[in-house]
Amino acid sequence: MNKKLPNTSHTQVLIIGSGFAGLGMAIQLQQAGITDVLLLEKAAEPGGTWRDNNYPGAACDVPSHLYSFSFEPKHDWSRKFAPQSEIHQYSLHLIRKYQLAGHIRCNAEVSSAAFVESTASWRVTLTDGEVLTCAVLISACGQLNRPAYPALPRLAQFQGEAFHSARWRHDLELRGKRVAVIGTGASAIQFVPQIQPKTGKLMLFQRSAPYVLSKPDRAYKPWEQTLFKYVPGLQQLSRGLMYLHHELRGLAFISMPWLMKGMRWGFERHLKQHIADPMLRARLQPDYPMGCKRILISNDYFPALTQPNVQVIDTAIREVRAHSIVTADGQEYECDVIIYGTGFAATDFLAPMHITGRAGQVLNEVWRDGAEAYKGISVSGFPNLFILYGPNTNLGHNSILYMLESQFRYVVGCLQAMEQRGLQWMDVKADIQARYNRNVQADSHRTIWEQGCTSWYKIDSGKNTNNWPGYTFIYRYQTRKPELNHYDCQR
Ligand SMILES: Cc1cc2nc3c(=O)[nH]c(=O)nc-3n(C[C@H](O)[C@H](O)[C@H](O)COP(=O)(O)OP(=O)(O)OC[C@H]3O[C@@H](n4cnc5c(N)ncnc54)[C@H](O)[C@@H]3O)c2cc1C
Repeated sequence: MNKKLPNTSHTQVLIIGSGFAGLGMAIQLQQAGITDVLLLEKAAEPGGTWRDNNYPGAACDVPSHLYSFSFEPKHDWSRKFAPQSEIHQYSLHLIRKYQLAGHIRCNAEVSSAAFVESTASWRVTLTDGEVLTCAVLISACGQLNRPAYPALPRLAQFQGEAFHSARWRHDLELRGKRVAVIGTGASAIQFVPQIQPKTGKLMLFQRSAPYVLSKPDRAYKPWEQTLFKYVPGLQQLSRGLMYLHHELRGLAFISMPWLMKGMRWGFERHLKQHIADPMLRARLQPDYPMGCKRILISNDYFPALTQPNVQVIDTAIREVRAHSIVTADGQEYECDVIIYGTGFAATDFLAPMHITGRAGQVLNEVWRDGAEAYKGISVSGFPNLFILYGPNTNLGHNSILYMLESQFRYVVGCLQAMEQRGLQWMDVKADIQARYNRNVQADSHRTIWEQGCTSWYKIDSGKNTNNWPGYTFIYRYQTRKPELNHYDCQR
């Protein structure tokens, strides 16, 4: 990747981030004839989620044929749920095939961006002080990019090694070590079964038990891959059926939470099948309605917890000491390594970047009661800023890449409309954004996420800032083209 490109001080479109959102957006802009595009990436390599989350066992939990772009199908996925390395390779393939390398600048972290009304442009500052300008700024920073660490008393006192699952220490030998894992979310249930056989002792600190269902995973046979390659429409058909299946599951999340009873039965069966000890089974029973937090899938998580070197600890952590973790009941657990499976700062969205819009409005202040945007993409007062995977566009039941593709089309539509009408900028009207978000919140109240739990989908007040409370085809319909009368437009 280019360290520093010549003549990049002004670009028509600057994209912050080079995960699937940034890469897919650049490809769609390219295909629409918009080629003056630069992606800024804070890391040393492009790739987003699947570059960072390379912990043992990392894999997608949406089938790969669905968790890939419709405009770039891959016929030879090795498994139904591909491992991280294969998904990351797919991102690198996008860069090669669409010749994006010359458009990506790595080691370029955006610290702030300010809209300058007089020149109708964004002034973007990097952490090293360099300033770039652009007409259109697209945020593709993801919702799950900044690791969240637990706020435990005296955490800094710990003298052993400690790291987050998204910053895996591959150099660290876990063999024979006493390893404390904090957290039982989507990442932990993937890496725990992988590291358990190596560790001397694995202590799993569980604040809240997850609902884990069996994972319908398997390797694709070579003949299946060949059929996907050569039989016209077969892969699209298979993908379409997967899409329908996932949207049908959406019924239970979005409109009819009572349908979760069926899935709950699947969970009980899975738990019983793998955990014979009734005491352990009781501790692995979630105490909130199914679906309220992300439902997880794994065939080896529960079996790993039954191994003699594993201890599940569901008492709250009181403090961390130099070589141990102490729980609220005074029990001390000695450990050499702590692994944080504690997720991400998902509700912070564009933070810690300092984004200033019209009349000096600061995005993080505008969002002090929780992030919101029009269609998850535009924020009133911040013209020509488009957010991908923004507020209320995460899903509990389907592929984020489907949502991203809806957003790509919408953003391309906005840029084309600006070009055709000779607009300098477009800024969504405040009342339109407010009405849209009143509806989003009203719809959220009916969903399973509001049936009694805390989760990374919500802020402390209980407002759902992350999830799309509807079907993905409705979102696609809503984003099929920009309604310019919803925006203040400046010629
Ligand atoms: C472990 C894990 C598993 C997941 N599995 C699934 C799944 O199975 N199905 C699914 O639909 N979704 C899944 N997701 C969600 C996943 O994040 C999205 O599907 C998708 O990859 C998001 O892409 P993105 O480009 O929006 O964000 P990211 O992939 O997070 O990329 C954002 C990029 O922006 C860069 N960046 C951030 N801030 C700055 C800055 N200030 N300056 C410059 N660069 C910056 C980051 O370094 C990063 O490269 C998973 C997430 C995780 C963490």
